Amino acid sequence: MSGDGEARRQVAFVLPVYNEAESVEAFHAALVEATTTRPDLVFEFVYVDDGSRDDSLDRLLKIRADDERATVLSLSRNFGHQLAVTAGLDTVGEADAVIVMDTDLQDPPSVAMQMVIMWEDGVDVIYAQRRSRQDSRFKKATAWWFYWLLDRMAEIEIPRNTGDFRLMDRRVVTEVSRYREQERFLRGIVAHVGFRQEALLFDRDPRFAGETGYPLRKMISFAASGIVGFSTAPLRWISRLGFVISGLSVLLAIYVALVRLFMPSQSVPGWAFLGVGMFLLSGIQLIMMGVIGTYLGRVYIEAKDRPLYSLQLAARGPRGDS
Ligand code: UDP
Ligand code: MG
Repeated sequence: MSGDGEARRQVAFVLPVYNEAESVEAFHAALVEATTTRPDLVFEFVYVDDGSRDDSLDRLLKIRADDERATVLSLSRNFGHQLAVTAGLDTVGEADAVIVMDTDLQDPPSVAMQMVIMWEDGVDVIYAQRRSRQDSRFKKATAWWFYWLLDRMAEIEIPRNTGDFRLMDRRVVTEVSRYREQERFLRGIVAHVGFRQEALLFDRDPRFAGETGYPLRKMISFAASGIVGFSTAPLRWISRLGFVISGLSVLLAIYVALVRLFMPSQSVPGWAFLGVGMFLLSGIQLIMMGVIGTYLGRVYIEAKDRPLYSLQLAARGPRGDS
C-alpha cells in the first residue's frame, strides 16, 4: 500500500463491455458524476470491449477522446466476461485499488464510492452483495441453487449473491493475477486469495438498456467452471458409489446363503453367482475408477498451477533484507 505522503491515491475501474452501445455513455456520465465527490483521489477508467458486435467500441473511443482518464482495450473477439475483466486487471499496474463493475448500470456508481470509503478504513476486498435484485424469477432461482451447490462442494467459502462487482486493494490484484487458469471463476479466485474481505449490501438495479450477455448456455458453463474449478468432490463420489454397490453384493451374498441353508427348495441354481458377481464386479470397477479419479483430481490441481500461498505481511528480521 502507498504511504500517506503527498501523492494522491489512485483508483482504477475495470469495466467490461459487450454490446452495451445503448448504455455506455449514460454509464460513463453516471460514473464520472459519482467520482467528482472525491477530488482527493485520481481515477482511471479502463474499458474492455469484449468483441462487441454493435458500435460499443466507437462510443468508447468517443468517451476516450473526451476524457483522458479513460483507457479503451478491445479484445479481438468475444472472450467472455471473466477474460475481459482479467485483461483489464492485467492493465491496471499503478492503481492502489481496483473496482470491477458492469457497464449496464446494474451496479450503481454510488455503491462503488462506498467501497472506496471501506477500503480507506483498511478492508482489502469489498464485494457487493445483492440485498435484492430485479432479475427474472428464473435467474433468481437458478442463482440460488447454484450458490447452494457451490457452498456444499467447494473447498473454500465463496460468498453468496455476489457478482464480480467488487473493490480490490492493489495487493489483492497482484495475487489474483498470479492465477492463470483457463476456465476462470474470478469471484472464487478472489475468495481463494484471502486478505480482509467484507461484504457491502446493495440493491441491484435492472439493466439500463439492451439484453443480458449471459444467456442460459453461458450461465451453465459458468456455473460448471465455478464448481469444477473449486472442487474435486464429483471425482470422489465415484469411489463412494463403488463402495455402496460392493456392499450391496455382500448383502446379496448373505441373503442367497440364507435361502440356500434354510429354504433349499426355493434356491435357483446359478443365480447367486450371476447376481452377486454382477454387483461385486461393478462395485470394484467403480472403486477403481474412483482411484483413477483421485489421481486425475491431483493432476488437475497441479495443472492449474495456482500460487501455493499469498503473503499478507512480511516483517523481516535484521538479516532479512539484502
Ligand atoms: N460482458 C462481457 N462479455 C460477455 C458478456 C458480458 O464483457 O461475453 C459484460 C457486459 O457488458 C456487462 C457485464 O459483462 O458489463 C455483465 O454482463 P451482463 O450484464 O450481460 O450479465 P448479467 O448482469 O445479466 O448477469
Ligand atoms: Mg448486467
